[in-house]
Amino acid sequence: MLTLLLLLTLTSGMSCGQTPAKPNIVFIYADDLGYGDLGCYGNKQIRTPHLDQMAARGMRFTNFYSASPVCSPSRAALLTGRYPVRTGVNGVFFPTSKEGLDTAEVTMAEILKDQGYATACIGKWHLGSAADFLPTRHGFESYFGIPYSNDMTPTPYLRNEGQAAAKANQDSTTYRYTQEALSFLKKNRNQPFFLYLPHTMPHVPLYASPAFRGKSKGGLYGDVVEELDWSVGQVLKKLKELKLEENTLVVFSSDNGPWLVKGQDAGSTGGLREGKMTTFEGGMRVPAIAYWPGKIKPGSVHQQLATMMDWLPTFTLLTGGQLPTDRPIDGKDLSKVLLGKGQRDGQELFYFMDGKLQAYRKGNWKLKLPYGGNAGTPGMKAVAPHPILLFDLSNDANEQNNLADPHPEKVAQMQAQVEAFRQSLGQVPPTKHLR
Ligand code: MG
Repeated sequence: MLTLLLLLTLTSGMSCGQTPAKPNIVFIYADDLGYGDLGCYGNKQIRTPHLDQMAARGMRFTNFYSASPVCSPSRAALLTGRYPVRTGVNGVFFPTSKEGLDTAEVTMAEILKDQGYATACIGKWHLGSAADFLPTRHGFESYFGIPYSNDMTPTPYLRNEGQAAAKANQDSTTYRYTQEALSFLKKNRNQPFFLYLPHTMPHVPLYASPAFRGKSKGGLYGDVVEELDWSVGQVLKKLKELKLEENTLVVFSSDNGPWLVKGQDAGSTGGLREGKMTTFEGGMRVPAIAYWPGKIKPGSVHQQLATMMDWLPTFTLLTGGQLPTDRPIDGKDLSKVLLGKGQRDGQELFYFMDGKLQAYRKGNWKLKLPYGGNAGTPGMKAVAPHPILLFDLSNDANEQNNLADPHPEKVAQMQAQVEAFRQSLGQVPPTKHLR
């Protein structure tokens, strides 16, 4: 009997060793958080010990890009691995919009759900709030949160496809999302899961819980970011308690750069030029941290280009899923980068705003196409017109030194590459109706 028991224990142990459990994925998204807002990205005022530790024990990216300088297209690109222009999500949806991310798109939630993952979206969706386009129609088994930006009205909490509250008490939004996230982790501890946690904060209007209000040196904005950091700490603590830490990849990032026109209520680009709504670096270069104890080498800093679209192929590959083969996927696999086994394939990014291709980065060179300028609105900072610009980001990340004149051959070469990419896009879908 004892031998039999011993044998059973051994074989079950072996089979575990032979077929390791599929890794869990937790993706935490901040809204409008700037490149310079976290301690581990050089911020001296706002305390972010949990994110700093996540970076110290994981991997921090220094040339990581969202696929758009505004909310909805950035999210569409994250979830589909495709440039926003391919999905027609070229601008920001409003509560009145009858359209959203097309259900014919394949999202990372669908890919993971097909493999038996429990999937949840908790937080800001912003890919269409009409029933046909909610998270539950895009591969998420459950949803809780404010379905779009918190400066749009009304601001209800939805639970799945129904209303959970007519008006969210935004003082406790970060807290509520955190509690929902912790219960999801606990409930799904015994099966693979994908938790997508797109926070409403620190998008304006800013709100913090009483426990955080007035506590930071960075004003209300700092309070809000410190509460987000607390939330990240809660998630990591729960994973550790549940003994899931070593089988869970946690990623933290931001959907776009800071909304500078909001002054005191906006974040910091850490010196990068311009911010949200522009294709200068401040609009699209964002913090990104990946954490996976035992898999990602502690203290790694990845300085090569990587993008928000990369997570879809990365998660698919790490979990043994299938990438769609009937459509272009623009993201590149980062699994070798994370595991320290190789490089990302390619070093290019096309920067879009409102469906228009405005800039192109290849290696350390960035070409910014001529821009007619924007006089500014209450929601948008004025941006001066500019001719064609060429920057060497390796020593001019802040885009101050235009090298177009001394490097006409580089300009011409990159212009040709932009044109080739434009051609390769072919017929793109019409822009979704946003209002
Ligand atoms: Mg945003």
